[in-house]
Amino acid sequence: MGSISTQLELVRKRIDKACTDAGRQPRSVTLLAVSKTFGPQAVIEAVQAGQRDFGENYVQEGVDKIAALEAWARTQDRAPPLRWHFIGALQSNKTRAVAEHFDWVHGVDRLKIAQRLSEQRPAHLAPLQVCLQINIDGGLNKAGVAPQDALALARAVQGLPGLMLRGLMTIPEPAIDQAAALRVHERARELWQTLNRQLQQPLDTLSMGMSADLEAAISAGSTCVRVGTAIFGSRSAAAASSHP
Ligand SMILES: *Cc1c(COP(=O)(O)O)cnc(C)c1O
Repeated sequence: MGSISTQLELVRKRIDKACTDAGRQPRSVTLLAVSKTFGPQAVIEAVQAGQRDFGENYVQEGVDKIAALEAWARTQDRAPPLRWHFIGALQSNKTRAVAEHFDWVHGVDRLKIAQRLSEQRPAHLAPLQVCLQINIDGGLNKAGVAPQDALALARAVQGLPGLMLRGLMTIPEPAIDQAAALRVHERARELWQTLNRQLQQPLDTLSMGMSADLEAAISAGSTCVRVGTAIFGSRSAAAASSHP
């Protein structure tokens, strides 16, 4: 693995090439750097390399890191604004911290969670930007609303004042090859298009693709790839080095 800035550059090149291969504009895909398990210093390095969107999926770790980055920003002449995305399954007793500290939530899969996030979103902040997590491949024991229930949930979420529904998010099971990955991602895109024919306010975000399958996801129409390992390295190595 190279430095974080080198790895970021490689991932951006992969995204640009996948966009070109798919006949899409490179700017049409947002790179979300998944910094979970890595400390604030890794995020600072990524910020200094131009990265602005970060993904976390443990609430307390994310809240602590956001505070650390805000403290760092105060020591800088011109620190850029960052966007923090909560990307995992969210339990109802953790919604307040997410509503108060994050900009986006990818992973809403039931109305109760959405209602809590909406009620708990502080009035002085912009609405929380939300993607519904879809269980696109029917994986057992996995979070996500079933595709056939997505329209009803989307309509309900669009009625909540503290939230802005932006799109869908998927975490498919690892595919055996790129062709299989592509088929699953295409199903998500088809669902997104179907919803967009039925909803009053269209969705502009399709959050899918990670380190291993971002090319397939972009080819299928992803607008946001969530990449951890390919930028920051393996998470078990990070955990091992922080607990020698
Ligand atoms: C950890 C995580 C990722 C990043 O996965 P990598 O394989 O390390 O790129 C993306 N999305 C979610 C929801 C995650 O929890």
